[in-house]
Amino acid sequence: LAHVYKDIKRGRHFKVLINPFGGQGHAKRLWENTAEPVFKAAGCTYDLTYTTHRYHAKEIAKDLNIRLYDAVLCVSGDGVLHEVINGLMERPDAVIAHKLPVGPIPGGSGNALSFSLLGEDHGNHVTNAVLGIIKGRAMPVDLCSVTQGKERYFSFVLQSFGLVADVDLGTEDMRWMGEARFTVSALGKLLSQKTYPCEISYIPVETNADKLRSAYNHHYNQPVVWADQTHDELDQAHPTIVDQFGGINAPLQSSDGWVTENDEVITAVGGKLPWASKGMMLNPASSPNDGLVDLLIFPKGTGRINGMQIMIGTDTGEHIYHEKVRYMKVKAFRLSPKGPSGYISIDGEHTPWAPYQVEAHRGLISVLSV
Ligand code: ADP
Ligand code: MG
Repeated sequence: LAHVYKDIKRGRHFKVLINPFGGQGHAKRLWENTAEPVFKAAGCTYDLTYTTHRYHAKEIAKDLNIRLYDAVLCVSGDGVLHEVINGLMERPDAVIAHKLPVGPIPGGSGNALSFSLLGEDHGNHVTNAVLGIIKGRAMPVDLCSVTQGKERYFSFVLQSFGLVADVDLGTEDMRWMGEARFTVSALGKLLSQKTYPCEISYIPVETNADKLRSAYNHHYNQPVVWADQTHDELDQAHPTIVDQFGGINAPLQSSDGWVTENDEVITAVGGKLPWASKGMMLNPASSPNDGLVDLLIFPKGTGRINGMQIMIGTDTGEHIYHEKVRYMKVKAFRLSPKGPSGYISIDGEHTPWAPYQVEAHRGLISVLSV
C-alpha cells in the first residue's frame, strides 16, 4: 500500500467519488470548475466515479484495489465518507485497508470533517481542501464503534438522538437550502421545546467545561491542527475490534464506572469532530485521537431563551459553558430510546430506533490533512 502518510509524495494518484445528489447538487460543478484544474496543475491523477445510489460508495470501497491509490477522495458530505470508511472496515483485509487515507472535498450539506480540518475561516473551502489533499500528510483519527442489536456501524462524526438527529434526518426536503437547513431547522425545534425520553449510561472522564477546553483543545475555535501527530498509533491500531466496554449486548460492568440517567432530553449527541456543519461547533474540545467520545446533552426544561443562547453559542463552541448544557469526555456511552419511534443519526445516516452503544477506537483511520 503506497502510504502517503510516511512521506510527502508528489503526483499522487486518487480514487475520486463524486456524489451528484449531496448538498444542493453542486458536487459535479465543484469538481470540474474548482478541484480538477488544481489536481491537474499539481500533476495528480485519478479514477473518477459518480455515485448513483445509496451504498454505492460502500460497495466501491469494499472492492477497491487499494494498492493502486494514495487516497480515496469524496466530493460529497460526510455520508459518502461514512460509507467508504465502513466499506474499508468490512473488508477481509481491513488490517491494511483501514490505513488507506480518505480526503474530504466539501460537496454536501454536512461537511463536518472538512470544516474540522480547515476551520471555519478557511477562505475558499474547496480549493483549500484540494491543496491539503495534494500536499498534506495523512493523520490518524479515531473511529467509533456503534453497536446496535447484532450490527456494528463505524462512525467518525456524530451519533445523535433527539433534536440533532431530527435536524440531520428530518430536513431532507430542505436540501435546496444547503448548509443553512441545519440552522433553520434547529432554531424551529429549539423553540418547540420538544423532549425525548431515554436512558443514557456513560463512563465519564472529564465533565468540567474549563478543564475540557484547557486539557483537550489548545486550538479552541481554530482549525484543528493535526499536522504534529505521529503515525505510531496508526501503525499500532489494529482493526480487530475489541469492545472494551462490552458492546450493546453485554451488561454494564460497575467496575467500569458507568453512570446511568433516566430522563427526557432535548438532544444527546456523541461526537469525534469539533464541527458538525457550517456554523455549528458542537464539540469544541473534541480531539482527533484521544480515544474518547465527546458527549453533549441538552436536558429537558431548557426554556426558549436559554435554547436561543445555546444555539448562538454553538457558532463558536461557547454553548459548553451554558448552565443548561452538559458536555463531557466519556470512554463510552449507551443510549436507549424510550419513545415509540424517532430518528437516530449516525454520521447523518438513518439508523434503527433501538438501543446503541458507542466507544472510540484510537487512531483507526487515516485522513489527509493540511
Ligand atoms: P449531504 O451532506 O448533503 O447529506 P452526503 O454526501 O452525506 O451529502 O450524501 C447523502 C446521501 O446520498 C448518502 O446517504 C449517500 O449514500 C447518498 N447518495 C450517494 N449517491 C447518490 C445518488 N446518486 N442519488 C441519491 N443518493 C445518493
Ligand atoms: Mg449527509
